[in-house]
This record gives sequence, C-alpha cells and structure tokens, in this order.
Amino acid sequence: MKKILIIGLAILLFGCKNAAEDNGKIKVVTTTTMLTDLVKNIGGDAVQVEGLMGAGVDPHLYKASEGDVSKLYNAEIIFYSGLHLEGKLVDVFERMEASGKKTIGLGEFINKDELISSKLFASNYDPHVWFNIQFFKQFANKVTNVLSEAHPEKLDYFSENNRVYQEKLDALEIEVKDKIETLPKEKRILVTAHDAFNYFGNKYGFEVVGLQGLSTATEAGVQDVQRLSDFIINNKVQAIFIESSVPRRTIEALREAVLSKNHDVTIGGSLYSDALGNPGTEEGTYIGMFKYNVNTIVEALR
Ligand SMILES: [Zn+2]
Repeated sequence: MKKILIIGLAILLFGCKNAAEDNGKIKVVTTTTMLTDLVKNIGGDAVQVEGLMGAGVDPHLYKASEGDVSKLYNAEIIFYSGLHLEGKLVDVFERMEASGKKTIGLGEFINKDELISSKLFASNYDPHVWFNIQFFKQFANKVTNVLSEAHPEKLDYFSENNRVYQEKLDALEIEVKDKIETLPKEKRILVTAHDAFNYFGNKYGFEVVGLQGLSTATEAGVQDVQRLSDFIINNKVQAIFIESSVPRRTIEALREAVLSKNHDVTIGGSLYSDALGNPGTEEGTYIGMFKYNVNTIVEALR
C-alpha cells in the first residue's frame, strides 16, 4: 500500500517535469553497473541510460528509493538482470510491467537448460549469468532487439553497435582463455565472499567455493568459516578473494580461521562480482572488469 502511494506521488511530482527535459534520447533505466555499461555500448548517442546501482553496490540487498521509483516511472525501457538477482526489486518490476512499461529481465531469456540450478535461490537458478561471456553476448543481442523494436528507425545504428561489441566480447573470451591456460588445473580453486563465480568456474575449470552462498542475504555462520578453512588447508589453497560489493570482514574472518590452525592463506585481492569498478576506470566496464578479475585470480593462485 505504501509503495502504491509512493508511485502515485512520483507520477504527480515527476510526470510533468519529464516532458520539459526531453532531449530526444530514448530513456533507459538499468539496475546493475554491468547492464548500464552494456546499454551504453549498444544504445550509444541515441540512448540516455540511468543506472540505479553504482560501483560497489550489492544488488541482492538493494531496495528502491523514492527517487528510483520516479526514474523507473519516467523510463521508456527498463532492463534488469533478473533470475531474482535484484531480490528486493521484484515487486517494483512487476508493477512497472503491469502499468504497460517495457520491463525486461535479461537473464530470463537464457535457455534454462544452460543455467545452473539452485534450490536455495528464489528463482531456482544461479543469477550470476554475466560471468559466462556467451550469456552476456546474449544479453547484448536482446538489448539490441528491444531497442530496435521500440525505435525501428535506429535499427541499423543499434545493430552496428552490437556487431562491434560482439567482436570485442569474442576477443575478450580468447584473451581470458589464454590467460587461464597459464594456471595449472590443480590450482584452479576460487574461494570468494559469496557464490558469484559458478558460471565462471564451469566455463574455465575452476572449483568455486563461496563463503556466503548465492545471495549475500544469508550471512556466513561460524560453522561455514570452520568448514571452509579446513577445505583451504586440505586443498593447499594459496589465496582467497574479497569482493568489491561485499564487506571484507567475512573473508578476513576466514583468513583468521586458517591462521589459527597454523596455516597461511593470503588475500589475493578484491574481485568485482556483482558490480563493476568506478566509472571512468577500466574496471568500470564489463570488459575491463573481466580482464581485471582474471588477471587478479591467475596471479594470486599461480
Ligand atoms: Zn551475488
């Protein structure tokens, strides 16, 4: 009820203002930084993208502010990641869709047979699909199709942007595979703050262990830390990783547990899992983020 009131208020406050600010660009709102970067690549100058979440923001826990609701209401098209990644925004998306707005959960269009299932997660699937570059290529195709359907006069422009971006993603795939090839198979064990890297692990032959499970909404318990510290010692894991969108104390507690058993493990660096780096930096793009993660992982585990 309260949320309906907020939307009503947003219509009153921002409904008229929107027309005055019209710059002729297609207004798109995205959720995560990965999607913001993607829509910028495909939409180019024709699109004005507003991302709700910034660098270091955890999408599992993110709640919509009143300002967000008005941004969503004023958008022509909304792209979100889906598969319950943005677990606290699901009902907002449903209301936007019910009001007739194009509201696209990109992860929902991936063939379910190719997804990693998880009974622990609300969607029944692991939502961290962007860590398979081939899935992100599918995201790019879907964004291109949705934008082109809404604005057929710009079809050639979006298609060309997509062609260029697909080539860059293909080059990324080759670079990443080459880098990972330099890491012996037995050293491919990736211990991180939460289970964001299962698709990455499947694709490149890593055993992946997250301290917190698929969503950061469930906190790691003392037993999780003890179990995982034994795993690290038994498997001679050299390095574990913090994540930019998850508080570092969980991984630090894990390291303490390993040290207390007279073994050592280093913190191999901070990975970008559910959010990119700061805008304007290389890690602030999907492609830059992916390279940074792979370099960090390979150098620390080598
Ligand atoms: Zn996550």
